[in-house]
Amino acid sequence: MYSEKMVGLGSRRSTIREIFEYGKKRAAVVGAENIFDFSIGNPSVPAPDCVNETIKELIDTVDSVHLHGYTSAQGDAGVRAALAESINRRFGMSITGDNLYITVGAAASLSICLRALAEEGDEFITFAPFFPEYKCFVEANGCELKVVPAQIEDFQINFEEFEKIINKNTKAVIVNSPNNPSGIVYSEETVLKLAKILKEKSEEYGKPIFLIADEPYREIAYDNAIVPYLPKYYDDTFVCYSYSKSLSLPGERIGYIVVPDTVTDSKAAYAAVCGAGRALGYVNAPALFQRVIAKCCEETSDVSIYQKNRDMLYDALIKNGYKCVKPQGAFYLFPQALEEDAYAFCEKAKELDLLLVPGDDFGCKGHVRISYCVPNEMIQRAIPAFEKLAQMYK
Ligand code: PLP
Repeated sequence: MYSEKMVGLGSRRSTIREIFEYGKKRAAVVGAENIFDFSIGNPSVPAPDCVNETIKELIDTVDSVHLHGYTSAQGDAGVRAALAESINRRFGMSITGDNLYITVGAAASLSICLRALAEEGDEFITFAPFFPEYKCFVEANGCELKVVPAQIEDFQINFEEFEKIINKNTKAVIVNSPNNPSGIVYSEETVLKLAKILKEKSEEYGKPIFLIADEPYREIAYDNAIVPYLPKYYDDTFVCYSYSKSLSLPGERIGYIVVPDTVTDSKAAYAAVCGAGRALGYVNAPALFQRVIAKCCEETSDVSIYQKNRDMLYDALIKNGYKCVKPQGAFYLFPQALEEDAYAFCEKAKELDLLLVPGDDFGCKGHVRISYCVPNEMIQRAIPAFEKLAQMYK
């Protein structure tokens, strides 16, 4: 009677959500201050002042019927022009508002891109560790997600395995840098090599293999790390962006897709994106927040707070014998679990009210994700629990 696929998806919460819900229940028993919940990637740093100031200004100055009315499906033309100008200035692109489609965040950007591209028999590839929702989005389009195993020494791309998996049915490759869950930023060397392989394979198969750059963490980068802008390296790139993390607006649902003119048959590509947004029933992204991002798109939340958290937690982990690649972005650490089975390790951590997420869900066994977008004082209080956990394995 109901779609089995959807019943399945709706009945099973993601492991992250499961742990997050457990944390809320447990907090009611032992007190919120005694739970160290590192499960979810909900920004803990407030949105920059620009956001609330712009909302107030819009409410005070724009006629309310207009302010809350429908916009063009692809987003308000003035908003798109403002975003295009900012993208051009920051990344040396030359797009216009007509290359942009405003969405309700990165999840929608990805779903729309995938729907725009997916045809029967297509395969999509991503690199472990990866954001688990990719599987859901790809499979919702009747396609298969193939996962390239992780290169655990540095979490850059495992090209040897990639070349074994890419084939004539590959429609697109999804990359995410800065990465959730490893926090790794793909180096320019990695991006150049990826672009070279994609070009060669596109030629070999006589059809473009697209690149989907999922980059909601683009602005959350530390140590002056450079996050290469992928359309500069590979013509057939769609950029999926979101303000959920950079402006701390995950609940407001706002982002965009860039469809550059360099994409093969770019007019058809843009039409397919508009068609997918329509078929998925998005209508248009929230009108008020379209105008907010037009004004605040060059601002970010205070990223230095996340960097302080990263430094404090990373140093404590290393001091206590954990193995972890030092990440340069996002707000996640992805250390090795202290036993082979990351689920068992997370259960042990849970005994200390330390809530971590097993790496298995991200396609990378033996690791755990620590989401450190939490108040710094929670990290200070949690460090003894990480110490105790390490001692349990000595
Ligand atoms: N892509 C990655 C890698 C993410 O980590 C997330 C959210 O955590 C998303 C996409 C979805 O972001 P949004 O809230 O903008 O839909």
